[in-house]
Amino acid sequence: MNIQNANHNLVDHMLNLLSFPENNAESPSHPILVNGSFDAAAPLGSQNINPASEIIQFMDQMPGGFFIYHADGDEEIIYANSALLRIFQCDTMEEFRKLTGNSFRGMVHHEDLDAVEKSIKEQISSSKYDLDYVEYRIVRKDGSIRWLEDYGHFIHSEFAGDIFYVFVGDATEKKSKQLEEKQLINQEHLRRLEVIKGLSVNYESILYVDLETDKVLPYRLSNRTLKQFDAEFHARKFLGFISDYVNTWVHPDDREQVLQATTPEYICEKLSHAKTYYINYRILINGKTLYLQLRIVNVSTGQQISQIVMGYRRIDEEVLRDMEQKQMLEEALQSANLAISAKNTFLSNMSHDMRTPLNAILGYAALAREHSYDINAMIDYLDKIDISGRQLLDLIEKVLDIAWTESNDTRISETECNLRTIVQDVYDSLLPKAQEKNILIAMDLTSLVHQDIYGDSDKLHQLLKNLVSNAVMYTNPGGKIDLIVKESKNLSNSYATYQLIVKDTGIGISRDFLEDIFKPFEREKNTTLSGIHGSGLGLAIVKNLVDLMGGDIAVDSHVGEGSTFTVTLHLPIQDDPLFADVATKEILAQLMKQKILLVEDNEINLEIETNLLAGVGLTIETAENGSIAVKKITASAPGEYGLILMDIQMPVMDGWQAAKAIRNLSDPQLARIPIIALSANAFESDKRMSIESGMDAHLTKPLDIPFLLETIANVLHTRKKNLPGS
Ligand code: ADP
Repeated sequence: MNIQNANHNLVDHMLNLLSFPENNAESPSHPILVNGSFDAAAPLGSQNINPASEIIQFMDQMPGGFFIYHADGDEEIIYANSALLRIFQCDTMEEFRKLTGNSFRGMVHHEDLDAVEKSIKEQISSSKYDLDYVEYRIVRKDGSIRWLEDYGHFIHSEFAGDIFYVFVGDATEKKSKQLEEKQLINQEHLRRLEVIKGLSVNYESILYVDLETDKVLPYRLSNRTLKQFDAEFHARKFLGFISDYVNTWVHPDDREQVLQATTPEYICEKLSHAKTYYINYRILINGKTLYLQLRIVNVSTGQQISQIVMGYRRIDEEVLRDMEQKQMLEEALQSANLAISAKNTFLSNMSHDMRTPLNAILGYAALAREHSYDINAMIDYLDKIDISGRQLLDLIEKVLDIAWTESNDTRISETECNLRTIVQDVYDSLLPKAQEKNILIAMDLTSLVHQDIYGDSDKLHQLLKNLVSNAVMYTNPGGKIDLIVKESKNLSNSYATYQLIVKDTGIGISRDFLEDIFKPFEREKNTTLSGIHGSGLGLAIVKNLVDLMGGDIAVDSHVGEGSTFTVTLHLPIQDDPLFADVATKEILAQLMKQKILLVEDNEINLEIETNLLAGVGLTIETAENGSIAVKKITASAPGEYGLILMDIQMPVMDGWQAAKAIRNLSDPQLARIPIIALSANAFESDKRMSIESGMDAHLTKPLDIPFLLETIANVLHTRKKNLPGS
């Protein structure tokens, strides 16, 4: 309700009373603003004066602030009630006037004034009832700042012109509560931003897009998207941004796809089914291809899809991984195909290779039948049948072996076995074949120290046999094969590393074929071409076995010169009580690298002692009497012999004489070779004689190997200690 219309006269009278005291004859000065309050006793000169003055009195006593001021000019205050004065901490109107300059402008904090006046003006011009509401700060008498909320009413009065009636209340507490809430909201907002930041760490660019207004706003930019915005990162048109980006960075082959997947229509269509979708594409930077993913997420609050977030991230690793996997699958497929074709080749070779001995068997059997009257011819045919039968058997065994070693459940057993025995057995089994072809086989086990091992004796035997039989097979008559075992032992653990070397002076293997040599069914030349019967499975079996034992196989070969196959295996050695003590072990290990001269005239003793000593890994040379022994030592290189075991009673020169002769040699190192007497004479006098003739110890026969080794270790240990400089 408009007060002006409702009670025009009363308001005018009020204003008359408040603003123009001179209209009231008896009033000498301002009638109402005495001490900030209305002076009810002031005489009034019309019939409306009483109700007007009652209202004024009422206003003056209202608990909330109330004032009236001129809307124009200096906005001079016409009236202020006691509550307003209290808000400003003023006791009198005088004080209030002084503090505020008696104007509305003076009441409002200067920082808020412009905004307040503007807001009042706008509200009044748009309000049907000429009402406004504003909040502003004031400065009180003591300088403290309070917030007021101001409900104003604009009216036009005949007496006072345009004026405002204003009710005010102290809103400081309310304001500070609002402020606190706002701060809380801000903190929550910041926290959410941090969460978003954390979750989007993989995205190098993040953009906010409003499809409705066609605006894109950057949130995070990469080196590339950075160039799509101005220096202040202002929002720009979305469609313009997309086409810029695509034409600048996207790989020409992917442009169409990216443009199509980022049209507003496509985005809306996609996001109407799902919250998010992505596209992968390539970009080109200095000719280098990088892989990116653009993810688009619907963040619109309502049903309509208008706000979206676009995140760009690099996916090079994922793509490369995918590509690698694809390549691996392709390779697997290719090798599966190769294996199939290799097997097909094998089957056709096999049928040929099987037919050859079978034809021979059947043919010779027929011939034998025909020549049954001729016993010599019969025997010859039977021998040939036997050879072909064995070839067939070998082929069948190998096929079974390869199938067996390729099956997953093949186990390698670790049982006690002796490496020397295994090598010797292989040697023995292939020696006749080699001799048949006039091929020399030499076995060298001199560096084999720990022959008692834990291993799979059958499989070790098989792998070595395959290698040696190949060497025999592919070496021409007059050639040579070396079968060598080398050991390198790490004394600190219970394993030793062995190299099984099969070296031949055979036909050799071409460089190209070396790459395929361990593949099943592969042969450099088939039986027809080479005239050598085979299956192409022997080395594949060897390779499988070596792999199963955790070892390694290498081949070095030159066509026309020969081949060397080296198998390296790490095998557990059996605990040898003879080698329990580390110092003894070291000394004996050193001795095993040298030769021992066993001087003995009795042939039976010589054989027994040689075998016993060789059995513990020592390398033995022999001499039948003292004189031969002296000659051998004189002719040897210093260090070649590590020890002499000397019988005493011998023809030509006995052990004592020989020992003296050796001690008198001109080469000091040869003269110092340790000598241990091995004698049937057990008298103390004999022992003394041995020591006096320069020997280091005297042992009696029969030989006790552990005691001998202990004595050897003691002797060598004492020698080492007594060496100058040690
Ligand atoms: P096979 O001997 O039955 O053909 P292997 O798998 O044992 O099958 O050998 C595969 C091929 O490797 C042989 O056909 C031969 O061409 C070549 N090869 C193997 N060992 C030797 C060697 N010691 N000297 C020359 N060639 C060899």
